[in-house]
Amino acid sequence: MTIRPNSIEARDVARVMHPYTNAVVHEKVGPMMIEGGDGIYVIDNEGNRYIEGLGGLFCASLGFSEQRLVDAAHRQMQKLPFYHSFGGKSHDTAVELAERLVDLAPVPMSKVFFANSGSEANDTAMKMVWYYHNAIGKPNKKKIISRMRAYHGVTIASASLTGLANNHRDFDLPIDRVLHTECPLHYRYANPGESEEDFATRCADALEQLIQKEGPDTIAAFFAEPLMASGGCIVPPPTYYEKIQAVLQKYDILLVADEVICGFARTGNMFGSETFGMKPDIITMAKQLSAAYQPIAAVMVNEKVYQALREGSGKIGTFGHGFTYGGHPVATAVALETLKIYEERDMVNYVRSIMGDFQDGLHAFADHPLVGNARGVGLIGALEVVCNRETKEVFDPSWGVAAHVGERALKHGLITRALGDTVNFCPPMIITKAEIADMYARARLALDETHAWLQ
Ligand code: PLP
Repeated sequence: MTIRPNSIEARDVARVMHPYTNAVVHEKVGPMMIEGGDGIYVIDNEGNRYIEGLGGLFCASLGFSEQRLVDAAHRQMQKLPFYHSFGGKSHDTAVELAERLVDLAPVPMSKVFFANSGSEANDTAMKMVWYYHNAIGKPNKKKIISRMRAYHGVTIASASLTGLANNHRDFDLPIDRVLHTECPLHYRYANPGESEEDFATRCADALEQLIQKEGPDTIAAFFAEPLMASGGCIVPPPTYYEKIQAVLQKYDILLVADEVICGFARTGNMFGSETFGMKPDIITMAKQLSAAYQPIAAVMVNEKVYQALREGSGKIGTFGHGFTYGGHPVATAVALETLKIYEERDMVNYVRSIMGDFQDGLHAFADHPLVGNARGVGLIGALEVVCNRETKEVFDPSWGVAAHVGERALKHGLITRALGDTVNFCPPMIITKAEIADMYARARLALDETHAWLQ
C-alpha cells in the first residue's frame, strides 16, 4: 500500500509510535485505521467490516457497540467525572465494584485494590508480595517465580515476570528477583511418549528443584495465568496446578493468579482459577472486567495478605502505593455495568452453550497441513503452525508464516493475532454459533492460501 501524503495514515506514521509494532515496517505500510464497531465486527476507514477474532486484545467481551456501557459512562461523567481514592477518599461505584468482585471471587477474598492496566495490577501484586513478607518478618523471601512464555505485562516488574524474549531483549530485563520455570505446554516440551500427567509431575519437580537451588527461604510467590493466553494459548495438562500448588504449600509460597484474560467467563467459568482448580492468595484482573470500554484493573487479596498489608501500613504510616486514576469513577461505573450485563445474560452459561462449537471448529483444523496442534478451553484457542507435522519443526521465524496467515485472514475480513508460531482466537463472548462458523471459514481460507504460498 502506498501512503497518500497528508492522509490520516501519513499523519500516523509521522507522529504515532505504536506498541508491539516494527517501526521500520510501519513507516512503509502505515496503520490500519479502525473507525467504528458493530457487535463482533470492527469497521475500517474504507468501510470494510472485520470479525474481531481476538476481541481486540482478548478483552472486548461484549463486542464493539454495547450501548448500556456507553450510557453508564455518560451517566457517571455527569455525576462525578473524577475523584481518587488516596487518603481514605471514596465513591460509591468503587465500593460497589469491590463488593461485587469479592462476591464473585473463586476463593474467599477480602479486599480489592484498583489500578488501570493488567501490567499495573501485576506490578502492584509484586509490591504487595514484598511488603507482605516484610510485614510478617520474612524479609528474605523476595524472589518471584513465573514461567517461560508467560505474559504478565510490560512495566519493568511485570515485563520481568513475562517470559518472552522480545519483552526482555535490549530492555535489560528481567530484573534479578524474578526467575522462570518450565512452560507447561505438553505438545512442545514433553519428552517422547511422556503422558500429560507425567509431564505435569516433571513441571512440578522442576519448580521444586528451582526452589531448592535458590533456597526456599528466598522464594516469595509464584505468578501464573490459569492458561497462558499470549504465549500461544498454553493449556496446562491435567493435574498440573494440583502438583504445583502442593510444592508452593510445602515451601510457604504465595500463589498469584493472573486472571487478566481468563477472568469473567472466558474459560467457561467466572474465573480461570475455577476451571483449573487454582486457589490463589492474590488475583489480578483487567480487560473483560470492563469489557475493555474503560481502562481498569484490580488486585484482589485474601484476608491473610490483607492483614499483613494493614500491619505494614500501620507501622509505616501509609500504604505508599496507588495510581491517580485507580478506581476511577467512570471506569468503575462501566465495570459495574459490565458485571451486571454478564449476570443478566448469564454469560458463564452462554459461553458454555457455544464453547463446544468453538472448540470443535478449532480442532477441525488439526488435519490441516500447516497445523501441528490445535488447543484451547472455553472461548479461547490457538493453532500452532509447523512446517513438519511429524517432527513438529517450526518455520524459520524470518518467514513470518503465522503472521502471513493473519494477513490473509485480514483480506477475508477476519482479525486474528499471530503470537510466535500460533494463530489465536478469542472472539467477543457475544459471538453466535453462526458467527463462529463464519470466523473459522475465513480462517480456513487464510490457512489454505498460506499453504499455497509456501508451495
Ligand atoms: N496479564 C495478562 C495475562 C495479559 O494478557 C496482559 C495483556 O495482554 C497483561 C497482564 C497486561 O495487561 P495490560 O496490557 O493492560 O498492561
